[in-house]
Amino acid sequence: MLRVDIRDLRRGPVDTAGVVPATDPLFEGLDLSLAEPLVVSGVLEATGRGDFFWRGRLGTRVNATCRRCLKEFVVPFDSPVDALFTLDPDLQDDPSVYPLSEPLTHVDVTGAIREELALALSSYPLCREDCAGLCPKCGADLNQGPCSCGGSASH
Ligand SMILES: [Zn+2]
Ligand SMILES: [Zn+2]
Repeated sequence: MLRVDIRDLRRGPVDTAGVVPATDPLFEGLDLSLAEPLVVSGVLEATGRGDFFWRGRLGTRVNATCRRCLKEFVVPFDSPVDALFTLDPDLQDDPSVYPLSEPLTHVDVTGAIREELALALSSYPLCREDCAGLCPKCGADLNQGPCSCGGSASH
């Protein structure tokens, strides 16, 4: 359940478990494509101030293109998410804080899922740490060995 009823939250922490299909509109417009459904887990609970804190976890596999050699590969993704949902406009400048709106009936963690996924994957990806990339001159994949143009020797 990724959209939690406020009445349940007033009674205590609520498990957030769900599976979001890879083709879900939630991921539309993001510069990434999921190879598998996104598995969400975690706990959402009310804080003393009347906000709601989500300690979640996201797991999936993502289709990625290596930014050095442009090869396509699939990378496992598993990341914790800490997000605060609040009605307080003063807190909402923080990137991991998500606004709630009145009348407050539900807290929907899917808004945070989209943002956190985009954030976590913005630094990706390399097909491997020591990817040699492409020759800047001839475009050969230097993971296959040095190219014949010699352009790779200059750096
Ligand atoms: Zn690469
Ligand atoms: Zn070359």
